[in-house]
Amino acid sequence: MDFKDLTRKERSEALAALGEKPFREKQIFRWICAGAENFGEMTDLPAALREKLAERCSFERGKVELCQTSQDGTSKFLISFPDGEKAETVFMSYEYGNSLCVSTQVGCNMGCVFCASGIGGKVRDLKAWEMLEQYLLCAAHTGKPINHIVLMGMGEPFDNYSQVSAFLNDIHDPKGVGLSFRNITLSTCGLVPYIQRFAEEFPQANLAVSLHAATQEEREKIMPVAKAYPLSELIPACRQHAEATGRRITFEYALIRGKNDSQQHCDKLASLLRGMNCHVNLIPLNPVAESGFSTVSRDAAHRFAQSLENAGIPCTVRRQLGADIDAACGQLRKNALAQKRL
Ligand code: SAH
Repeated sequence: MDFKDLTRKERSEALAALGEKPFREKQIFRWICAGAENFGEMTDLPAALREKLAERCSFERGKVELCQTSQDGTSKFLISFPDGEKAETVFMSYEYGNSLCVSTQVGCNMGCVFCASGIGGKVRDLKAWEMLEQYLLCAAHTGKPINHIVLMGMGEPFDNYSQVSAFLNDIHDPKGVGLSFRNITLSTCGLVPYIQRFAEEFPQANLAVSLHAATQEEREKIMPVAKAYPLSELIPACRQHAEATGRRITFEYALIRGKNDSQQHCDKLASLLRGMNCHVNLIPLNPVAESGFSTVSRDAAHRFAQSLENAGIPCTVRRQLGADIDAACGQLRKNALAQKRL
């Protein structure tokens, strides 16, 4: 077992079982955040404890397998973990700072028909340290500050809630990275029970919800999760989240040509969201060969946006970052596996 596979609470318990004081866990956590490669480097721990730990468990880092940098400054990383599984992480540069898109699972079980991460299903959940590791490796590799974290990489964060919440608390801890919850956004395909829990446990963090369709019938066709958690439950849960936290919810809406991009679709979307403290992020679909769907032109996306704005719903068209480097969810890992580059 790798020592880092344990959550911080479990590490404290394991150390207590060895007769160690609670502050030892904090010391080790600081070393993890500082990028230590092994117990031997942890020079403020007694040598006997370092040896004991090294005898009982491993301490291995993740590795950057691949880093592709786009002309627009976006860098996409493929990171491998000690068991050989791989996750994607994307570094993006905006006027207001740098943002990192972190994966929460290897693969995904949600089955959204337009998304590359779901092809092949979920391989496994990522551990809290493996999410932190994506941050540590990308920060070291780019040498740039990372001001925002978005949980919008591979996987459904609410399908791995315990490790994701441990990660959020870890990255927030001022003794390590010290990232404010306000600078963290979690994106979900709409697992309703966790929306309320997230509002209670992380009221300062931002929530994004992948909507992609404004009617139940159309949403079910592209997002199987809609059958379990229909719009009639999802939208009230979102309204409640916005009211309970006072924060603005983001709705992601991938524009798919001929599927959800007409004026009628726009009208339905506007009436669904009317009166909510929200913002719509329109994403021209990043086509994935297997889905058979095609994208809309930037002009069409801007017309849809204008029409939505006219109906009183704030929205933006997402900048297309990294189109030349397989930057859509799950594409880099999928393509790398297919080409056996690894
Ligand atoms: N599972 C979470 C987070 C992962 S993906 C969720 O569903 O929200 C982040 C966003 O990218 C989601 O809105 C997802 O629906 C969207 N997405 C996935 N594949 C896409 C594609 N090919 N083109 C455009 N957006 C895509």
